[in-house]
Amino acid sequence: MKLHTLIGNTELFRGGTNSGLYHLSDSNLAVIDPGLSESRGRRFSEYAQSNHKRITHLIGTHEHSDHIGALSGILCDFPDCHVLIDHKGKHILESPDIFLAYINGGAPNHELRGYFRPLKTRSVPVHGLSEGPVTIGESTFEWFHFGGHSVGSAGVITPDGVLFLGDTLIPSEILSKFKLPLLYSVDGQYHAFNQLENTDYELCVTGHGKKVLTKPECIQLAVENRQIMEACLNLLLGAVKTPQTKEALMAFLIDKLTLTLNYKEYLFGMSSVSSLLSYLIDKEEVTVVLENNHLLYKLR
Ligand SMILES: [Zn+2]
Repeated sequence: MKLHTLIGNTELFRGGTNSGLYHLSDSNLAVIDPGLSESRGRRFSEYAQSNHKRITHLIGTHEHSDHIGALSGILCDFPDCHVLIDHKGKHILESPDIFLAYINGGAPNHELRGYFRPLKTRSVPVHGLSEGPVTIGESTFEWFHFGGHSVGSAGVITPDGVLFLGDTLIPSEILSKFKLPLLYSVDGQYHAFNQLENTDYELCVTGHGKKVLTKPECIQLAVENRQIMEACLNLLLGAVKTPQTKEALMAFLIDKLTLTLNYKEYLFGMSSVSSLLSYLIDKEEVTVVLENNHLLYKLR
């Protein structure tokens, strides 16, 4: 297992999902976003055991399985490990069907479930965190609730000043190919963009992507993410000059943004469109009408 020391006690394990390892003491470790698979979780366990350490805490930046699924592999060897996640993501981690239900707008089906590995958290207690300092032993982390990418998306800064951001910011190389990222709340994203500018940290690790960012690079990436989100809002505002169904607006965005989607990605995109439209409705720029049995979105 190849770990890269970032600063002090904070290490990085690169992969499809980037994970963090924080040395809480000579004997105790915290893993941040262990990743998707049970086998990846077991690699953390093996690393700890071969170094005569224990994994005592697992910190999730949000409730999605590609960040927290590997928890099961850690719990095999460290069943007493404490799981820390944002208080709004806690309920979804404990009942993963809630995520699939809100993506689907109703009960999920086997085809949608087929895209996801069932999350095996066993009966481990999950601690829901609120914004502010989080003390584990001698170490104090800083927790930020964003709720932009997902209901419980958050950021956590280690005592060394390394910010783990999960999927709040999508790296440039992914954004250039996919311009409709999964979004739960536009306001949550704006809150995150502001916090990234006004908070002290030395380095930032995004959930995916190869580069560890300095604070100025992170702020620049936040600008790119904001531009992509606002481009989607502006496309929708242009389209609803003529009243449209949500499905028609989704087809319009797929065309304009030249997206190629599978079933799961389409539902993720539709969920993002719903979130974008809710923001425009709350801003009183768009309204909803029922006409001839169609729910239409139109400029107010
Ligand atoms: Zn995610």
